Amino acid sequence: MTSEVALGRAGALLTIDLDAIVENWRRLQARGAPAECGAVLKADAYGLGAAPVGRALSAAGARSFFVAHLEEGIALRAVLDEPRIVVLNGLLPGLAADYTAHDLIPALNDPGEIAAWAGHARALGTALPGFVHLDTGMNRLGLSPDDQDRLAADPSVLDGIGPITWMTHLACAEDTGNPMSRAQLDRFHRAVARLPPAPVSIANSSGIFLGQDFHGDLTRPGAALYGINPTPDRPNPMAGVVRVEARILQTRRVDTPMTVGYGAAHRVKGPARLATIAVGYADGVPRAASGRGAVRIAGFTAPITGRISMDLITVDVTHIPETLAAPGALAEVLGPELTPDRLGESAGTIGYEILTSLGLRYARRYVGGVE
Ligand SMILES: *Cc1c(COP(=O)(O)O)cnc(C)c1O
Repeated sequence: MTSEVALGRAGALLTIDLDAIVENWRRLQARGAPAECGAVLKADAYGLGAAPVGRALSAAGARSFFVAHLEEGIALRAVLDEPRIVVLNGLLPGLAADYTAHDLIPALNDPGEIAAWAGHARALGTALPGFVHLDTGMNRLGLSPDDQDRLAADPSVLDGIGPITWMTHLACAEDTGNPMSRAQLDRFHRAVARLPPAPVSIANSSGIFLGQDFHGDLTRPGAALYGINPTPDRPNPMAGVVRVEARILQTRRVDTPMTVGYGAAHRVKGPARLATIAVGYADGVPRAASGRGAVRIAGFTAPITGRISMDLITVDVTHIPETLAAPGALAEVLGPELTPDRLGESAGTIGYEILTSLGLRYARRYVGGVE
């Protein structure tokens, strides 16, 4: 199907390459071997669709999935029977039965969650698996150093929870020269050495590239699956996954000096040709990229001029042949050249935020995958 056909009635088309996601998972698996490679599908698989991504990765052999919210876990369980699903945000008060009803494993982020999960296991008369999160410097979620001391002194509070996985999360993994990662790893090993023996999980996407010491038994990549560069100071080892193409709605010639867009923020010295494209900040093109980002039209780069609006952007197509930059043609907003990392950089943010902001107005096309 051509992009024009897939676009249908929409202003812009989001194409998601499931085979590229599977290929990235295989690369991360190889890179982290012999550790098992999990997959983080929180925030609807970073905006790309937890159900299709989960099905494709499960068919490829992924056995451990991670989401942030209980509701995300319930939705993912509805499409995946076999793999384990871990809810990273933890065990919500009073809702333990919802986790067992949907076969979900909570990350246990504080002593209260451990007690509640162990109590639920005793009430059911069965052991329940749990990921116990030990904070080693992120200071966001997880057992504090004092909690860890108390747990080491009395591990019987874990009775009923099993199998256990000890996990921690790195704060600076993408910054290879930062001593923080090694310090966190040392803290984690010291903590785990005092606790009952169990598998460990440490690395996010970037952590996998910090070397074997960080691989543990189970890795937790998210962003790299979706094509984000896990090694920002080196070339991207991942395959590109997303493409966004948007309609050119109008073109216009500007002959006298004039301004473009809201706030009259851009002055065209003229003569120039401008194209208006059906994508805006409501579709995740960040307003902060105004006057800094670019799109591609028929292989040419067209800089974004003036402010990015909610539904539209205006680009300079003066140097592009008129027949190519014409109404009805498509402009590439994200793709092999204009990666989410690059668009993020032009807006002072990261590729993660670009993907998770893509919005609901796209026609979506999945290519590859299982069905
Ligand atoms: C989001 C998250 C990950 C995945 O991180 P990426 O940088 O996207 O690979 C792994 N572990 C935890 C605890 C997370 O919150």
